[in-house]
Amino acid sequence: MDLPPPILPVRSLEFYYNDGNVVFQVSNVLYRLHKSVLAARLDLFGGMFILSNGQRQPEEGRDDNHAVQIEDGVAVREDFEALIKHIYGQWTAPPYPVPFLLSVLKLSTRRGSEDGRERAIHHLRDHGTNFSNLLKFHASIKYKVPLWTRPAFDMLVSTDWKLGDLSLLAGYDVSLEIIDLVIKTRDLISRERRRLATLPPPVSHDINCGRNQREKCSEAWMAAWILSIGRKVIHVDPLFQLQPYQAADAVRGLVVPGMSDHC
Ligand SMILES: [Zn+2]
Repeated sequence: MDLPPPILPVRSLEFYYNDGNVVFQVSNVLYRLHKSVLAARLDLFGGMFILSNGQRQPEEGRDDNHAVQIEDGVAVREDFEALIKHIYGQWTAPPYPVPFLLSVLKLSTRRGSEDGRERAIHHLRDHGTNFSNLLKFHASIKYKVPLWTRPAFDMLVSTDWKLGDLSLLAGYDVSLEIIDLVIKTRDLISRERRRLATLPPPVSHDINCGRNQREKCSEAWMAAWILSIGRKVIHVDPLFQLQPYQAADAVRGLVVPGMSDHC
């Protein structure tokens, strides 16, 4: 029986420093880094030295054949490389790319590093960072940043964006549950708006509104509601859309020709 040839690890072009003294392997790529640099940022990176049994083994990482294995799934290559860039401080002016910041946030959350988290969260707020609300909502749940959850969700369910925009998320592991929750909430709000636009609350007729008058009175109410409230509730332009906080004034200001004065 022929076995497939083993996949030989290759050295990273960017992060295999010849004067480094600790070798890591993620999937089939080897990274040779400096213990002293890593130690300076032990808070961020220290967990990577700890092996599964919790013991540091001195020979671990000493050469290509004894690389510290970073398990896939916990730290995929892009995340690992983003973190190395962060640690080695290859400085570029902010705003930093969102994928890089999310990798730092993800790995530092998993590794319990507050320092890495704070930096990532800080820079994700930078003006000019293209951090969409969907990614923000996703990150707030996955990486535990409750500060972002409500504002991002409110924007997602109330502003105009298209499902097609989701293609921009290719490459991010936004979970289907999150997209599902957002879409379902938007549908619910949209259905509720349409219901509100076309079905006014019933008229409670005044005692002076006679039996033969009531049907006309209700019709007038219905017409006025749909024309002036309903139209605004479902207006396609958010600028003209009636917002919940404006609703009470709008109803109070409603002029209903043909409706009995008392109703
Ligand atoms: Zn009436």
